[in-house]
Amino acid sequence: MTMRTPEELSNLIKGLIEEYTPEVKMVDFGIVFQVGDGIARIYGLDRVMSGELLEFEDGTLGIALNLEANNVGAVLLGDGLKITEGSRVRCTGKIAEIPVGEGYLGRVVDSLARPVDGKGAIAPNETRAIESPAPGIIARRSVYEPLATGLVAVDAMIPIGRGQRELIIGDRQTGKTAIAVDTILNQKGKGVVCVYVAIGQKASSVAQVLNTLKERGALDYTIIVMANANEPSTLQYLAPYTGATLAEYFMYTGRATLTIYDDLSKQAQAYREMSLLLRRPPGREAFPGDVFYLHSRLLERAAKLSNALGEGSMTALPVVETQEGDVSAYIPTNVISITDGQIFLSADLFNSGIRPAINVGISVSRVGSAAQPKAMKKVAGSLKLSLAQFAELEAFSQFSSDLDQATQNQLARGSRLREILKQAQNSPLSVEDQVASIYAGTNGFLDSLKVDQVRPFLSGLRNYLAQNTAQYGEIVRKTLDFTPEAEGLLKTAIQEYLEDFKSQNVSA
Ligand code: ATP
Ligand code: MG
Repeated sequence: MTMRTPEELSNLIKGLIEEYTPEVKMVDFGIVFQVGDGIARIYGLDRVMSGELLEFEDGTLGIALNLEANNVGAVLLGDGLKITEGSRVRCTGKIAEIPVGEGYLGRVVDSLARPVDGKGAIAPNETRAIESPAPGIIARRSVYEPLATGLVAVDAMIPIGRGQRELIIGDRQTGKTAIAVDTILNQKGKGVVCVYVAIGQKASSVAQVLNTLKERGALDYTIIVMANANEPSTLQYLAPYTGATLAEYFMYTGRATLTIYDDLSKQAQAYREMSLLLRRPPGREAFPGDVFYLHSRLLERAAKLSNALGEGSMTALPVVETQEGDVSAYIPTNVISITDGQIFLSADLFNSGIRPAINVGISVSRVGSAAQPKAMKKVAGSLKLSLAQFAELEAFSQFSSDLDQATQNQLARGSRLREILKQAQNSPLSVEDQVASIYAGTNGFLDSLKVDQVRPFLSGLRNYLAQNTAQYGEIVRKTLDFTPEAEGLLKTAIQEYLEDFKSQNVSA
């Protein structure tokens, strides 16, 4: 070992001092001075951003929402039972982000995309901000491909296209969730990634949806995001954005996606709770002033992307619950004005046995007709017209006793057409089967049957077609058109099966 002179040593030290660049890490701390009901007020945090993720001493996360002159109002993403007055809070420098990726398919996650189904960790492909801007006008193209729900009433008269936003609205227990779930089931084998967001629901209801999806083999292409009724309102508020973010990953990799927000009324209530606790001024129905923006920024993220961006899409089916069918309440009117149409469910129809209880007269789809398959377009026009006339006549005929023959015929036809629209839960129909039912109805083949025979007949006809006239289905599937050849095949099959059906029912 060589000895160093004191001079050498001091030079060495001087050199090191000169080279040393202090790595200053700015850590912005704050101190909690008030906490409760999922809200914390914090002193300090001078450089916090609006919407920034905060980390509390006990590991609970929070989001800074109110930046005020001398304190910061934050919401907690968890129960935060260990946070006390004087607890320290750290800025993370990040706006809330979640991991996303292929691994999420078939999984159940919470509002922060953490798995809650006990199947272990999920390996993400990347992370995305929970609040990301909606695609602009250059990034979009207009809706042109169908997103079939498998429900005759919807696909024939209120068609939905990929990238559209269609509201499902109705009172409690009118079959809103059933329509959403049927739509997911009908996407099987169509390459559509589905995201079902359950907000403020009972755990048992979500478990039921999960079971149905599992049983029908629909979970493989579905992600469930849930923030149940017992979870903090912040998580219920965040859940839809998380769902949209998970879907966006797939949309920007060129795939078709379907997101269902069940339901946005509960999300608005959670947001109202948060806002009132943060002491934001209440407005109409005590909702904060920015409740419109709450839903518009979410639903604007649904889009059909342009060719350059890979043609992916996000179709959104938000659900809103009404009270006593009142669509002029605050949240329903807001969401109606942001979406491209609505499917209106009525409790009266539901109770009189018309299920799905879709009120066809006041339901609309503003962009979907551009996406309707040609085959459906050919048969659906006359269906809509006949049903509208029937609804009018039915109301009118209640006042008079003797009706002329033409009116009686129209009423008879109408009541049979209405049977076509009835459909059991979890039994979506293919385009060719829907076309067959509608064709049979609008061309009078059902007129000779009793009204309660219509549904058994149609179900038998579907079997008959599958067994004896498979070519018909092939043509419709391949060309998506109702060609004269397909029409000829269908007509013969209906006539043949009608004979069979009648002879069976006479002998029985
Ligand atoms: P909530 O307001 O509680 O969320 P909801 O409007 O989502 O209710 P669903 O839960 O879908 O309604 O359906 C309510 C009930 O009606 C359920 O018991 C369901 O099984 C039944 N139902 C829904 N659709 C149909 C249908 N097409 N045929 C028969 N029963 C149906
Ligand atoms: Mg429901």
